[in-house]
Amino acid sequence: MSEYSENIRCLIIGSGPAGYTAAIYAARADLKPVIYQGIQPGGQLTITTEVENFPGYPKGITGPEMMEEFKQQAERFGTEVRFGVVTSVDLSVRPFTVMADDGNTLKAQTLIIATGASAKWMGLESETKFMGMGVSGCATCDGFFYRGQEVAIVGGGDTAAEEATYLAKLCKKVYMIHRRNELRASKAMQHKVFNTPNIEMVWDSVPGEVLGDDSGVTGVRIQNVKTGEIRDIQVSGFFVAIGHKPNTEIFEGQLELDEMKYIITTPGSTKTSVDGVFAAGDVQDHHYRQAVTAAGTGCMAAIEAERFLTS
Ligand code: NAP
Repeated sequence: MSEYSENIRCLIIGSGPAGYTAAIYAARADLKPVIYQGIQPGGQLTITTEVENFPGYPKGITGPEMMEEFKQQAERFGTEVRFGVVTSVDLSVRPFTVMADDGNTLKAQTLIIATGASAKWMGLESETKFMGMGVSGCATCDGFFYRGQEVAIVGGGDTAAEEATYLAKLCKKVYMIHRRNELRASKAMQHKVFNTPNIEMVWDSVPGEVLGDDSGVTGVRIQNVKTGEIRDIQVSGFFVAIGHKPNTEIFEGQLELDEMKYIITTPGSTKTSVDGVFAAGDVQDHHYRQAVTAAGTGCMAAIEAERFLTS
């Protein structure tokens, strides 16, 4: 346990756009932040291909490259970036106690939680194989690459419905694959889906395999769960929209979470139910879920942490 670790003024958990933006602001405010990168250094953007909607990159940039630049910018101002995962926290007294898998037990005066959310996946081997080569968990991020092509999306909730209608504006055809014969999505979203002529519903069906070759996805093998019938559809993009899971397990019972286990923050701020603990990015936002909104709340969290420490 290093002496420096014992005196952390601002500890940030998570290294997506929210975590690194919090680090940039906290470092420039002289809070000497330490950031634990988490299981997926760089966050969800590292599994996307090209990012074209983040302001300031007119030519686009790959997700991994962008996150490397975020990291370098945070380090430039003195952030200590650690490769490691926070395994438990005790938020009952301040300074908070934080344990990490690098063996450190840390004391933090303020904590910024930016652990994000993880897209749920079907769990198919072929889905993993073609990740970033036609398989995507975000239509807003990747839909643009499939302009004029035929794609499939799996899921029947609001996200799938919203993403299907978004994709339908760009793509020639969208197959919406759902395991039941009615959508879970709100009536308004269902109405939009059913009134979009180039969305074809594939009811009572589940994808069994993503088909592809060296160039990426070429189709999906689907099975009708009622009849057992198996058929292949030819698509170049396979979008999975079966929900997200916020990464909040270690905070359960210590912070107020909503019914979907996202951290509840005071509206218009990043304050959580514990003074001195702030939450930024997707871990507290299931609505926008964009890199730029995550970065915005990361900035807010660092400013609020600084004000908390000086108040
Ligand atoms: P969700 O409501 O949990 O829907 C997930 C969908 O994926 C369901 O249709 C579910 O099928 C299906 N699914 C789950 N696991 C599956 C599996 N292993 N194989 C095949 N299909 C599977 O998730 P969401 O759509 O991401 O929405 C999350 C929350 O955010 C919801 O409360 C939603 O209303 C909200 N949201 C709101 C908006 C909006 O208001 N504009 C937009 C997006 C999300 P079943 O239906 O059979 O369970």
